Formats: sequence, structure tokens, C-alpha cells
Amino acid sequence: MPRYADIVLPLAQPAYTFAVPEGMALAEGQAVAVQFGARRFYTGIVWRIHDRRPDFKTVKPIRRVLYDAPLLTAPQRALWEWIASYYMCREGEVMRCALPALMKPSGDSEEEFASDEFRPRTECYVSLAPELRDEEAFDAACERLERRAPRQYAALVEVASAGGGARIATGEVARRLLHADAAVLHALARKGLVRLAEHERTVERGGSSFLLPELSPAQLRALGELRSQFDGGRATALLHGVTGSGKTEIYIHLAAEVLARGGDVLLLVPEIALTAQLIARMERIFGSRVTAYHSRLTPRRRTETYLRLNRSEGGEFVVGVRSSIFLPLKRLQLIIVDEEHDASYKQADPAPRYNARDCASVMARLMGCRALLGSATPSLETWLNARTGKYGLALLRERYGAARPPALFLSDTLRAAKRGERQGHFNKLLLDKIGQTLDRGGQAMLFQNRRGFAPYVSCTECGWTARCPSCNVTLTYHKGRGELVCHYCGHTEPVPAKCPSCRVTDAVPMGFGTEKIVEQVASLFPEARVARLDRDSATSERAFSATVADFAERRTDILVGTQMIAKGFDFEGVSLVGVLNADNLLHNPDFRAAERAFQLLTQVAGRAGRRDDAGEVVIQTSDPSHRVLRQVLEGDYEAMACAELAEREAFFYPPYARLTALTLRHRDPELVRRAVGELARRLRERFGRRVLGPIAPPVDRIRGEWLACLLLKVESGASSARARELLGAELRRLAVDPAFKTVTVVCDVDPQ
Ligand code: ADP
Ligand code: ZN
Ligand code: ZN
Repeated sequence: MPRYADIVLPLAQPAYTFAVPEGMALAEGQAVAVQFGARRFYTGIVWRIHDRRPDFKTVKPIRRVLYDAPLLTAPQRALWEWIASYYMCREGEVMRCALPALMKPSGDSEEEFASDEFRPRTECYVSLAPELRDEEAFDAACERLERRAPRQYAALVEVASAGGGARIATGEVARRLLHADAAVLHALARKGLVRLAEHERTVERGGSSFLLPELSPAQLRALGELRSQFDGGRATALLHGVTGSGKTEIYIHLAAEVLARGGDVLLLVPEIALTAQLIARMERIFGSRVTAYHSRLTPRRRTETYLRLNRSEGGEFVVGVRSSIFLPLKRLQLIIVDEEHDASYKQADPAPRYNARDCASVMARLMGCRALLGSATPSLETWLNARTGKYGLALLRERYGAARPPALFLSDTLRAAKRGERQGHFNKLLLDKIGQTLDRGGQAMLFQNRRGFAPYVSCTECGWTARCPSCNVTLTYHKGRGELVCHYCGHTEPVPAKCPSCRVTDAVPMGFGTEKIVEQVASLFPEARVARLDRDSATSERAFSATVADFAERRTDILVGTQMIAKGFDFEGVSLVGVLNADNLLHNPDFRAAERAFQLLTQVAGRAGRRDDAGEVVIQTSDPSHRVLRQVLEGDYEAMACAELAEREAFFYPPYARLTALTLRHRDPELVRRAVGELARRLRERFGRRVLGPIAPPVDRIRGEWLACLLLKVESGASSARARELLGAELRRLAVDPAFKTVTVVCDVDPQ
């Protein structure tokens, strides 16, 4: 009977059916080469094999099978399907993001396809001929060589002893590790004394006895609770521990148990650049079992890593960013999501717009393994799940050891200005504390949630501001580059000498960013060594690491940065943290503003005094009685969570509602306006008052396209599958409507 296979292609299209050639051995999850469309050749993934002929005329055959083994396990395929259904995209779009680029050759001809294929780098390995593993035979061979060919003799002895302890090692050794040169080894091979083999580099796994940190009583209790909740059948649990409480130590213990059993562990981290310290810490304990996976690896390294893990027998510890959820770990037993509240677990663009934290939970269910979510300031979604018993929960309320929580001060910017106790963007309190810190030889971190020198440039005479020609935003002034920059599209232009509108005065930078803070600190404390860390200064991995290393090794005294400095750093010398202006965090027009402000400020504050002396934190604000600031001051996460949840429930926002954001884009503003109006009308027929909008987004023009938004709010209890089905039908209708089909519609489920 003829066989067919539904193949997922790296396109935003449904799986397509191909014929399986007679005699081709094929398994689901395998990668194959196929021809699709007029002449394009693609890599596809075998999704389902069946015997139902599709109803189009010519069914093209699969060209050939790629790679030896399937690239995807059954649970991975199930995860792709879940993502495609939940986030309303195609499996093909998941494929684009899940598999490293080099693994998906394509081309306009078979030759082009073949030349695009990944060729693993191989190297030469040497082993003793099996006959020589016998001591007598080995000694005889040595004797024959010793006088006549001393270099071959030396090489033979070296190969034999390369395995370490034993006199006659039986394993393979990479040629690059031997002193003997290639010609000598080839001579030995010709005599049949050694064997040479070309293959991919193998990784030494090391043993499974790890030197683990000893846990404090509180940590032991939390570990015990997590274990019993997992054993009691919970797939997901939350570890809610204040910063510095030693959540990492608990991860280490849970991971060690899994690795010792031969299972795999996946540790997800928000952004790898910020967690180099964490990786180093894991490597000190787990050695070569640790594999890092992130976007700063070369495409080749990513591909090699994927393929190596696909062949692995287990015992892997992967530390990676959100896309690591797609790695083929066949014995995955534990997924840890560190800083689970972090917004960077959600992919904003392009599709699939997935949240890796939620995928971890789904994956745990699919694989029958565990997911542990860790945070000092959990997302309210996760916290509610833990409170209602859907997730397990363990608490760590104290910092580890002698480290005390930092002392927090709110400093009123308006009052300081009135009293003349303000210099530049610094209140006297913060200046005094910086001075004291420097006198003691301590270090300070200053947090300003804005890059550049000034958020906008404005004319004091006529009020003109510099704006981006293709986005509806003001341009940010970057003094170091002497340019105005658009943070949405990257457009740059020189700073005008005179106001282009009235030509009377100079254009003046207004507001302030990290660059300006650096300038002010440097002039207020001329003896201090000041550095800056943000997306502009950390242009390369090397620049970033150098700045971090300088600060860690106390070659700089003050580090000024954006939220980049808030996450994941553990600098011993930091005793003071200053927040220049908390107002813009609090007054963000976003329903998560209060939660985010609490998380960020708590995290920033957590950078102070991570060792024995208590640190100090100064938060400058014009609104020191703000509820969220009081809660940060008291370190009262629960108060924040309860107050926020009450508001979310009253105004019907997550976690009580599921949001789907729809964004329509087109160069013609009138067309966008009509399309969004029409879509809103049609959706209201089905969803009624659950449809909000049309809403003008905060930035309504980006890269020359006009934007309009709709928001769909569906009760958490309602069938989200049904809602997606209805929404999907309307979006498809719009996509084929001749009046609107040129309008781009982006659908973001659970937007962050
Ligand atoms: P968290 O991840 O909860 O912020 P960490 O795991 O980074 O906290 O711990 C904070 C500091 O305390 C780290 O420097 C860590 O090495 C130390 N620490 C925590 N628990 C232990 C322990 N059981 N033994 C030794 N050091 C610990
Ligand atoms: Zn002007
Ligand atoms: Zn722009």
C-alpha cells in the first residue's frame, strides 16, 4: 500500500502531504528533504505517516532522509502542537525558531540544497590495535620498535598510556592531545599497531559524585517540601525565596539527584549574558556536564549542540535561554525556570509568541517530569496558581548566612529640589551615601531605566521636539555618539545646531538617561572610577564581559546601568544601590506596571549587600507615599500581590482573564482604521463585551507602518480552545477579504 507523510515545513503554512518512496525507512520526527512550490527545496519534519492519499493531483515524493536519527521526540512534537494551537501559529513557525538555522538547509536546486547542508567537524582519534591490548603482545611490539624506530616506540607508549591510570589503555584519544606527530602515527597505523578514526569530537562526561553545597536548615526544609510535592504528583512547583536566600543551592541539589540517575536537567535563565556567573557556578560543580545554549553561540555551535544532545544517552545539564525548551533532551526529568517572572521568557516577535515558562510547565506534563519555577518576586499568574494549589509551593523567607536584608530609603525629589538639596539628578541623601561608600572603599550601582543621554531633544523657545521620520516617537539623544537615535527602528540623525522649526535657539536635551548620569557622577565624584552598562555600551560580548569583570574585580567604583544591571549579578563589593527615578516605572500605562515596578525595584535592591554587611538602597521619587514603594520598602510581596490581584479581579485582567492582543499594520492609515473597525465589529458579534478597542497603541507608527490594536479578554475559566477557534475563524476571514488582505495582523496570546 502506498504511504504518505504529512511534513511540517519552515513556513507559516499547515503541514503538507508527500509520498513516501517505496522502501524508504521513515520515522516520525525525522528530517527530510522535499521540493515544495515551483522549485524550492526545503528541510521538513515528518509529522505523521499514513495511507490516505491527499486530494491534489500530483503528490510529490520525499527526496531523501536527513540525519541518522529523528530530530524530535514524541513529547517535543506534542509541545510544538501545543504551541501552535495555544499561541495561534503554525508548527512551521515553531520549527523556524526551535531548530538551529544550519540544521534546516534549503535551496533552489538539489545542488544548492546539498551545499547548504550541515557538515559536522570531525577530528582524528587514535586507539591501540585490539591485538595489542594483551600485555605480552604489547611488550613484544615495544621491543621491536624501541631500537629501530624510537619515535614510533614513544608514540605507541603515549597512546597506550593516554587513558590515564592503566598501563595499557583501551580507549580512544584525540590526536590533538598527543605529542606524537601525524606521520609517526600513520606509520604505526600501517604496521597495524594503532587504529585511526575520523569522527565528531566526543565529550567526556565525568562521574556523578558532585561536591554539593551544604544546605542551611531553611533550605533543607524548602528542598524537602519541593520533593514531597513533586512526589505527591504535582508537575510544577514554585520556589518563592527572597534574593540571596540560596534558591540556586536548591536547584543544585535537585539537579544533582537527576544527573546521578542518568536523567537530564534543563535550567532556563532569562538572558544568558547576565548569567555568565551562574553558568560558571554550575560548571564548578557539574563540570563538563554543563552545556550552555543561547543566541551568542555561533550558528555552528548551536547546531553541534543540538545534534550532540540528540545523540546523548542522558546525564546532561543544559543552561540556556528560552529557546532551550526545544532541545532534544530525551531523559529530561527536571526543568528549572529561574527568575520565572521575567518578561524575556516571552518571545514578542516573530511567531511563535510563546512563553518558555508556561511551555516548561506543559513540557513537564507531556514528559511526565517536573518543572520548578524560582523567583523572589513571582509573576501574579504563578503566585495565584501556587496559592490555589495548582502548583506546589516552597518558601525561603531569609537571606542565607549572615547576609541581612538591605536598608531601604525613599528620597523625595520634589522636596529636595524645594530645599535646594539637589544637584543634577541627585538628591543630597544619595550624594551623601555615594560619598560615604567611596570613602569606605565600597562600590555603588546606580539604576536609571533609560538609555542614552536624554530621552528627547526639545526647543525651549517653540517647543519643537526631534521625532523619528518613520515612527511616532521622539528621538533619544546619545551624547557619546553625538546623534539622535530612534529606539524603535534604529534610525539615526545628527543633532541640529539650531532649532529646525523656529531657528532661534539651540535644541536642548530634556530628561535624562544613563549617559547623562555617568557624566554627572563623574563630575560630582571626580576621583571615582565610573562605568556604564546598557544595551549601547554592551555592544559585544567582549565589551560586556570587560565592564562586568572590571566591576567585579573592583577596578571601577560606580556602575551606572539600565535594568541590565538589575538581573542576576552577584557582586561582593556592592554596598549601595541608587535608583535615580522610580516615577517612570510606577506610572507606566500598563496593567502590570505596579507588579513590574515592585519586581524591578526589589531585584535592584537585592544587588546591595549580598555578603556580610547589610547594604543600603536609596530610591528617588516624587511620590514617596506611593503604595508600591511602601511595599518595596517593607519587602512585602504578599501585600503587593493581594492588592494587585484585587484590582486585576475587579478590572478583569490576568490572571483572571486571558488576553489576546491583535495588532493590525499597514502603510495606509485609513485602511488600518477601516480594517480594525471591521474586525472589532465582527469579533463583537461573537465575543460581545470581551472585545476592547480599537485602541491606539502607545506608539502608533513604526517603520512607516500605522498600527491599531484590539484586545480580547476571555474569562480564565472559559474554554480557551473554543475562543481560539472563533478568533482563528475571524482572522482567516479577514486574511482572504479582498478589501483587507494586505493588512498584516499579528496575534499575541498572553502578551507581556
Ligand atoms: P538566590 O538565587 O536565592 O538569590 P543565591 O543562591 O545566589 O541566592 O545565594 C546567595 C549567596 O549565598 C550566594 O553567594 C551563595 O553562594 C550563598 N549561599 C546560599 N546558600 C548557601 C549554602 N547553602 N552554602 C554556601 N553558600 C550559600
Ligand atoms: Zn524652536
Ligand atoms: Zn523609528
